[in-house]
Amino acid sequence: MPNFICVTCGVQYAETESAPEHCIICEDDRQYIGHKGQRWTTIPEMQKGYKNRIEEVEPNLTGIGTTPGFAIGQRALLVQTPKGNVLWDCTSLLDDATVEAIRSCGGVSAIAVSHPHLVGSLVDWSYAFDHAPIYWHADNREWVTRPDSAYVFWEGERCDLLDGLTLVRCGGHFPGSDALHWQAGADGRGVLLVGDTMQVAQDRRYVSFMYSYPNMIPLNARTVQHIVDAVEPLAFDRIYGGWWDLIVATDAKAAVKRSAERYIKAIS
Ligand SMILES: [Zn+2]
Ligand SMILES: [Zn+2]
Repeated sequence: MPNFICVTCGVQYAETESAPEHCIICEDDRQYIGHKGQRWTTIPEMQKGYKNRIEEVEPNLTGIGTTPGFAIGQRALLVQTPKGNVLWDCTSLLDDATVEAIRSCGGVSAIAVSHPHLVGSLVDWSYAFDHAPIYWHADNREWVTRPDSAYVFWEGERCDLLDGLTLVRCGGHFPGSDALHWQAGADGRGVLLVGDTMQVAQDRRYVSFMYSYPNMIPLNARTVQHIVDAVEPLAFDRIYGGWWDLIVATDAKAAVKRSAERYIKAIS
């Protein structure tokens, strides 16, 4: 039986004979149902018209995005370390060329996600890489659309994955929205991978914080401050957002602080 993928959010569901009636991700007020109604595809169907673009974005960090753009259009990231690689967020498309390219980077030891919007077909990715565990914050558990034994539901504020790679819960957009801190990134100055736990702004000097990006629903001051406080103890100089080119290249920790100040002033 096929695992259907929602065309609007790109999230894959458990096996069903026919397409599901609803996408719980898109029916939530943080997302939206496609303007042509609820539509579905599958990985074999996608393989006919899409490919993954796989490119190094800095040493030991590889971006993976689907082209032409599909659904939310995110770019996943593979962090490569001597002790194993972590895939941060995921794409809906998986094909032989992608598996081969990722294997040549050392494969995937673990998958971790920022939140349920950027997860694509992550269970298929887990299967392709020796059932790599999927680290998913327990507070987002209700948004799992394809249950599997690969899930590791971590709780609390922090989760150490591998040497120098730590998940930090920030909340806000989703209660379990998190960031991945990569100590060795940016030549040792530290990197934060954020998905849209913080959204890198188009000027790439600021980030923003929203309950819903497509529906433009802001967060309150207390919640924004909590996100800033969650990353305050970490050393980082660069932020990678969840899309190609959305990067705060340097001085990112100060950028988070000034972004929160500007945001809280705007909503007060
Ligand atoms: Zn959807
Ligand atoms: Zn999101």
